[in-house]
Amino acid sequence: MNRDAKIYVAGHQGLVGSALMRQLRALDYGNFLLRSHQELDLTDQGQVRGFFAQERPEYVFLAAAKVGGILANSTYPADFIRQNLLIQTNVIHEAYSSGVKRLLFLGSSCIYPKRAPQPMKEEYLLTGPFEPTNRAYAVGKIAGIEMCWSHNRQHGTRFLAAMPSNLYGPGDHYDLHDSHVIPALIRKMHEAAAGGADHVVVWGTGSPRREFLFSDDAANACVCLMNLADEKMDAILASGRSLPIVNIGCGEDMTIREVAELIADVAGFRGELVFDASKPDGTPRKLLDSSYLASLGWKPSIGLREGLIRTYRDFLERQTLTVSARSVSTSAS
Ligand code: GDP
Repeated sequence: MNRDAKIYVAGHQGLVGSALMRQLRALDYGNFLLRSHQELDLTDQGQVRGFFAQERPEYVFLAAAKVGGILANSTYPADFIRQNLLIQTNVIHEAYSSGVKRLLFLGSSCIYPKRAPQPMKEEYLLTGPFEPTNRAYAVGKIAGIEMCWSHNRQHGTRFLAAMPSNLYGPGDHYDLHDSHVIPALIRKMHEAAAGGADHVVVWGTGSPRREFLFSDDAANACVCLMNLADEKMDAILASGRSLPIVNIGCGEDMTIREVAELIADVAGFRGELVFDASKPDGTPRKLLDSSYLASLGWKPSIGLREGLIRTYRDFLERQTLTVSARSVSTSAS
């Protein structure tokens, strides 16, 4: 991508999209097309078609999606599959129709089978049954990968799909029910510490293993993939792999108990962790084989403790903003 290339980041206000914006700006890119959800509804085919026809982006990062943690995925599967199928179908097809040079479609490590051998290689896709708690999300994302593959094959596009491990970082949703484990536990531990509670409830048994990656590292890998030389990109798209996927992970995983203890430490919570086994554990282990990225010389730069400290700081800033917004509206009313 030239520094003045016209870049559309779909979902620029989300966890990955906002990290992509930080990365791209730090690398001196500046010609962005950005639309908030209110300005452009990506589930609306007519709006998406009009946007691409008029703006004609050269590069597209497709980071817009309905996302959520284990409980949100198992509670609202219809919303997840419907919204994500609509968004990606519209964006991928209009990117092709308007002549986009490259597109990077963001998915997640939950696309792989529940019992896939670890670490999970790209070719393990569709080799076994899914984890039921996020099947609707996973099937939706796999349909997006298949659309990229199909457009590449039929129309000669260069559409690549990146599958990051469990991401966390600034700008996440710190929701007790619908968010992923790290933002949920940051909020729980912070509130428990502030309120002097003696315990925090952690869902599941604490034994599942997850590979956590800081959002800015994932964004850095995405920019690196988007900038692959044509020969390298074409080698991925034409290789023996059945699908155009590249995994993005840090190569290390840990138990939920271990990450909960680390978050407790960062948020200053000294009480007990109580595991609620009535809540689902989900996939027992999700560790990606990211050897393709490693072969390019890419590696993450932000360790888990450092990333958690930065995320906790972001949580505190948002708390302060919410409290001051509330006091402004109370004093105004
Ligand atoms: P997953 O990787 O798709 O399973 O997504 P999550 O980030 O939602 O959950 C990861 C693991 O953390 C699961 O085993 C959850 O049961 C566990 N977990 C523990 N406490 C929490 C919590 O408060 N919220 C969430 N979302 N998960 C939790």
